[in-house]
Amino acid sequence: MIIVLKPGATPPEIQHVVDRIVELGFKPHLSQGEHRTIIGVIGDESRVLAEPFQAIAGVEQVLPIMKPFKLASREFNNKDTIVQVGKVKIGGGFLAMIAGPCAIESFPILDEIAEAIKAAGANILRGVAFKPRTSPYSFQGLGEEGLQILRDVGNKHDMPVVTEVMDPRQVPLVEKYADMFQIGARNMQNFDLLKEIGQTRKPVLLKRAMSATVKDLLMSAEYVLSEGNPAVVLCERGVRSFEESTRNMLDMSAVPNVKGMSHLPIIVDPSHATGRRDLIPPMACASIAAGADGVHIEVHSCPEKALSDGPQALLPPVFAELMPRLRKLAEVMGKSFS
Ligand code: PEP
Ligand code: MN
Repeated sequence: MIIVLKPGATPPEIQHVVDRIVELGFKPHLSQGEHRTIIGVIGDESRVLAEPFQAIAGVEQVLPIMKPFKLASREFNNKDTIVQVGKVKIGGGFLAMIAGPCAIESFPILDEIAEAIKAAGANILRGVAFKPRTSPYSFQGLGEEGLQILRDVGNKHDMPVVTEVMDPRQVPLVEKYADMFQIGARNMQNFDLLKEIGQTRKPVLLKRAMSATVKDLLMSAEYVLSEGNPAVVLCERGVRSFEESTRNMLDMSAVPNVKGMSHLPIIVDPSHATGRRDLIPPMACASIAAGADGVHIEVHSCPEKALSDGPQALLPPVFAELMPRLRKLAEVMGKSFS
């Protein structure tokens, strides 16, 4: 449920509403716009709706939000959320270009890739140190040593870094090194992990699970938001289908679909969605045209030696050729890479 306050509601009136919400055992979520304040009330819906909040001074309207996701919904906040990662803004007209190798392999390899992608215009560096692999015999990542390499390379090239966290117990460690958490497709419904990330104030890139609906994705975002962390960026990365020539089926309609329902930024990952480097440039262009707030692309300087996802990694020169096309499309969409 949301409580809409009158345009002239005073700070003590607003505080009184917040205090009353807490007193009743619910959680308040304040959203202060230029002209008015709205307060989300999170708790058992039937109990929340039974309370006469409209009787409190300064309250204009009390609106039930029918959608199961509340804080993520446009009803709660009609203005596009901008998530800040280091100096980079994502959403509200600002585009992210997250690029880097699948796994962090060594300082020299990551350094070489970072230098190339930064020069081409990428604004966030990715690389994973804890790899969720289908097989326990595949490379599992370098762990903390990898996180240190990522931090050092990010600092050297003045790029914020994003990396995956797979387990609630890893959150403090990953938080020490990363500017943004990534929750991978396989962990989108790891609710304990979502709650733990929600307790931090670090931005999170939340990837859609391969069999999740758009509503499931927004419900997972709601877990993070309801714990108090507002900085969620969603990511469409393809869903399972009958098609065998691509790794997954890129659901491009998820972008405008999410935008209609939620104020959260959404980016597209054509690398994991297609699994094929020939399909990444056209799908990256389509993502910007569909209204995405950014793109996530795997790049490797020597894909044949990559320890994971080599076949879908773009070579740095191909990435560099793609960027000017994306910039032109961004301009058409009235956006820019931040
Ligand atoms: C990744 O981005 O490294 C990754 C494993 O992607 P996903 O979780 O989307 O499969
Ligand atoms: Mn990968």
